[in-house]
Amino acid sequence: MPLRRFLLPVLVLAIAALALAGTKYRIDRTRCTGCGDCDRICPVDAVEIVDGYSTIDPDACIGCGMCLGVCSHDAVR
Ligand code: SF4
Ligand code: SF4
Repeated sequence: MPLRRFLLPVLVLAIAALALAGTKYRIDRTRCTGCGDCDRICPVDAVEIVDGYSTIDPDACIGCGMCLGVCSHDAVR
């Protein structure tokens, strides 16, 4: 499928660019509901739900921003 062939390299390049930029994210606990959407989407398993809140391991995070995109509570900053 042409669209899929186009999107996959773009996604990989975007993830690589963000990782190289060293972007790190953190969780705003006043907004996090612990829904786990960020945990499920993280490609490197850097997210864990602890005590009902999402927690990002800064050493494992590659800065791809996928958790930011999936959080519907604007809790990833
Ligand atoms: S997706 Fe957002 S609200 Fe849900 S656990 Fe992650 S940071 Fe919290
Ligand atoms: S930015 Fe990417 S690697 Fe880092 S915690 Fe979010 S989904 Fe995982």
